[in-house]
Amino acid sequence: ESSLDVTSSPNLTGRLALVTGASRGIGYHIAKQMAAAGAHVIAVARTVGGLEELDDEIKAEHARTGKGEATLVPLDLADMAGIDRLGGAIHERWGKLDILVANAGVLGVIAPIGHVEAKVFDKVMTVNVTASWRLIRSVDPLLRAADAGRAIVLSSGAAHSARAYWGPYAASKAAVEALARSWADETKNTPLRVNIVNPGVARTAMRAQAMPGEDPETLPHPSETAAGIVGLAGPDITETGKIWDVELGRFASWQKPR
Ligand code: NDP
Repeated sequence: ESSLDVTSSPNLTGRLALVTGASRGIGYHIAKQMAAAGAHVIAVARTVGGLEELDDEIKAEHARTGKGEATLVPLDLADMAGIDRLGGAIHERWGKLDILVANAGVLGVIAPIGHVEAKVFDKVMTVNVTASWRLIRSVDPLLRAADAGRAIVLSSGAAHSARAYWGPYAASKAAVEALARSWADETKNTPLRVNIVNPGVARTAMRAQAMPGEDPETLPHPSETAAGIVGLAGPDITETGKIWDVELGRFASWQKPR
């Protein structure tokens, strides 16, 4: 297996990066750190307040260092036609895309499978799986055409551990991993590199929903988690179709012991 220092921020000057779920949590910090590394970030989420906060931070950093820019895209990823339009809009405005971070996700509910409501199950599959496929389809030609295209798909240890009460979420992450690995195989003879991330535990709204009894202060801040991910967007990455385990700090195609 290979390892690399993804904690050292790559130079992303001139790179255009689409980051979903950029209004809070891990995606917010991936977007912020990619901008600090020089990228122009297209930040997608529903919550305009969170996107504007990100934009303020990126503008302040730009004023200090001259690096980074953001374009905000308020979009509900359940809006499949909206996702379809996004690829075309990026093509029209910039004529390229270098980086995709498919980070947005929902937990749904922690409950026995027999107690899960249909609309909750559908929502988890829609946002975590169908929207990811639709987004990949929307930007695939742009990413293949980039000189060093990079795609990063956020998964979870739940995809492999399949714990009691995590059924819908675990199923969605297993599905999105399979999708990403198929895409990696399809694109292996292009410059595009597609990798999956298991971010481990991070102090976010989703984690608090999953584990309400837990003291958030004991968990890594999402900025730390993001710092273990952004290196996958760097031009030196050669791996594709692998799972990057943030806690282990290496690619791992095996199930992490617990
Ligand atoms: P948060 O709940 O903090 O953030 C989720 C992000 O996804 C928000 O920006 C939210 O934006 C966006 N999002 C959710 N639904 C939609 C939608 N319908 N349309 C557009 N955007 C949407 O989650 P985390 O930061 O914790 O999680 C980020 C990723 O990491 C997820 O894929 C998650 O499964 C994964 N992960 C997280 C772990 C953790 O411990 N935190 C552990 C393992 C995996 P908005 O609501 O504004 O639309």
